[in-house]
Amino acid sequence: MLATSEIELSQQALATNIKYLRSIVGPNVRISSVVKGNAYGHGIAQFVPMAERAGLDHFSVFSADEAFAVWQAVTGKSQIMIMGYIDNDDLEWAIDHEIEFFVFDMDRLIHSRDSAVRLKRKARIHLELETGLNRTGFDALQLEQVTAFLLENMDCFEIVGVCTHYAGAESVANYLRVKHQIKTFNKRVSWLKERGITPQVRHTACSAAAISYPHSRMDMVRIGILQYGFWPSKETFIDCMKYAANREDPLKRVIKWMSKVMDVKEVDTGEFIGYGTTFLVTEPMKIATVPVGYSQGYARSLSNQGRVLIHGDRFGVIGMVNMNLLIVDVTDHPEIQKGDEVVLIGDQGTLSISVASFSELSNQLNYEMLSRLPGYIPRTVVKQT
Ligand SMILES: *Cc1c(COP(=O)(O)O)cnc(C)c1O
Repeated sequence: MLATSEIELSQQALATNIKYLRSIVGPNVRISSVVKGNAYGHGIAQFVPMAERAGLDHFSVFSADEAFAVWQAVTGKSQIMIMGYIDNDDLEWAIDHEIEFFVFDMDRLIHSRDSAVRLKRKARIHLELETGLNRTGFDALQLEQVTAFLLENMDCFEIVGVCTHYAGAESVANYLRVKHQIKTFNKRVSWLKERGITPQVRHTACSAAAISYPHSRMDMVRIGILQYGFWPSKETFIDCMKYAANREDPLKRVIKWMSKVMDVKEVDTGEFIGYGTTFLVTEPMKIATVPVGYSQGYARSLSNQGRVLIHGDRFGVIGMVNMNLLIVDVTDHPEIQKGDEVVLIGDQGTLSISVASFSELSNQLNYEMLSRLPGYIPRTVVKQT
């Protein structure tokens, strides 16, 4: 049975994005490919081998179950790193498979030590430092205890990294806060070194920080949204264009999420489109229905706002996005027919849809909509688009 939509992933687009990223961070900074949220909806199983082909060999996920999915998908000797949730019962699996993980509380540190002792293997840890995001991470007061514990149990740990995460590097509104975080981080790392804790890799930057704060790049950057060909924010894009010779978007969308026109019909003046009264027809219209709605990940907030591509032209979503349907205004386009390809995210012809690139929608919607794309949508990898 055919699904109502499908996803194509472009190997060439990914290569373009990685090449661009490499040109920004230089040859000596390791790139960790962030593939949490099912690789931002691209699909871990399909995306991870693509990323390996593009030269990446380090993958970051949020949780142990995602690490397991990446572990199943890797073909090479790539390293996997868990940045967030691990049930204490899963620590043994992680340690036994040389999966690296963040440590941000004494409980995980103690359980890691115990698991490492049982397995007679070292836990490969990254010390997460609290520098101002106020989410997870050891704060200054805890570091004495952490240091003492590590020095006592040195044979149980390989301290691979030390890291932190910024409180909104994608917006200049947070400039002082981020700058302060970088300073705090460097100070704490020196403090650790003076006490004999010498992590191999310092890493703090997400996509936005890697672009806008060169000092945040350090030894490794954790890149999510950018590798998929989307900008963390308009500001980050503008920051990048400062260095660009031409003013063209250097990124290419890896994903192409597409469906087909299910039906076309004419609607008379004075009628409303779809549920409720959010869209009044003021002159005779032609509409096309597309069999994708909010249950398939097309955000309801795109009602009367979204854009799709058909025949290489842009068309507006009108009325409310339904559970399984959306409606598009194709007035004055007699050539559009049932069965025509509809691109919901990605490129068609010379145009491209990044969800948040129109209207007042925030780029956060890109993160949200991509990561909500259902796992059951068929995904295929193509060499080029
Ligand atoms: C998601 C995440 C990243 C990547 O963020 P992007 O903005 O997608 O580059 C980096 N670090 C941590 C800790 C994250 O949770």
